[in-house]
Amino acid sequence: MQNEFYQTSILLIYTGGTIGMIENPETGILEPFNFQHIQTHVPELKRFGFNISTIQFNPTIDSSDMEPEIWAKLVKTIVDNYNDYDGFVILHGTDTMAYTASALSFMLENLSKPVILTGSQLPIGRLRTDGKENLITSIEIAAAKENGKPIISEVCIFFQNHLMRGNRTAKINAEHFNAFRSNNYPPLARSGVHIKYEKNVIYQAISPKPLKAHYKLDSNVVILKLFPGISKETVDAILNIPGLKGVVLETYGTGNATTREWFLESLKAAIDRGIVIVNVTQCQSGGVEMQRYGTGNTLYEIGVVSGYDSTVSAAITKLMFLFGHDLTPSEVREYMQCSLIGEVTINNNYYD
Ligand code: ASP
Repeated sequence: MQNEFYQTSILLIYTGGTIGMIENPETGILEPFNFQHIQTHVPELKRFGFNISTIQFNPTIDSSDMEPEIWAKLVKTIVDNYNDYDGFVILHGTDTMAYTASALSFMLENLSKPVILTGSQLPIGRLRTDGKENLITSIEIAAAKENGKPIISEVCIFFQNHLMRGNRTAKINAEHFNAFRSNNYPPLARSGVHIKYEKNVIYQAISPKPLKAHYKLDSNVVILKLFPGISKETVDAILNIPGLKGVVLETYGTGNATTREWFLESLKAAIDRGIVIVNVTQCQSGGVEMQRYGTGNTLYEIGVVSGYDSTVSAAITKLMFLFGHDLTPSEVREYMQCSLIGEVTINNNYYD
């Protein structure tokens, strides 16, 4: 039990992105501000009464420059500070936030504290900013406990009133404040007058284990998006990339693709060379059911693996994570068909 003098501690990690910018009053240009001074720009933070520390990445980056090395750096930052804080809030550009959230969900195995990613469409220094509300609510969620235990113990994205499982989330809007959606998994919480947690969908470890951090990812993977008219040259050029180990194949509808002979032959040859091909739908909601139509079934028969209802960012980072462990193609295929940390809806759960 926590005593009455216990002070909640939250670590804010600022990687970069729109949220941490203010308008230069003289030039009107958006410039990053020193995040150590966040309390000056968001004085409301003092009202929490929490100990809020900040770490600012140097240099801060536009999230379009995100790289697996930076994910490893984020993991290290969390590991180094794990015992000193109740929760972590990562401020991140919106463009690749869903990739980062997915990667971290795999890299931080047995997480038992909240890691909340947030950002904004308008800088925190702008009058109509969505950044303040996103930041303040993310901190409140990262600090939330019930019976002395964190309510959230997974990697999440909080954006405009919705707390979503990070590896289920996709950026769906470049303009509106509701920029993220988790179409195949319900929100873990909604914020309104109160923050309402949906306990039945929040991840709960049955038998908590010590945090196990993973740092290695293998980038020898690619996303191949189908479109009517895609040429054999394009498909072959991609499947013959030297060192290629895994492909996320973005198919139509419930996992369908052209039945042209050259296409199936190219995929089959790649699979025979040990490349793991994962079928993920181009649709925003729903998932792959390869045995539903003849066209999907042909993919199944040549050895394409189902990505179920995975987002593209979860599927590609999962491949990077699994190949980062030097697993064989058949081991990777096997793990792709399990839910490692709630990223797909299948009964095959790896955790617990
Ligand atoms: N390009 C920016 C980034 O992703 C956009 C944002 O911050 O939302 O870093």
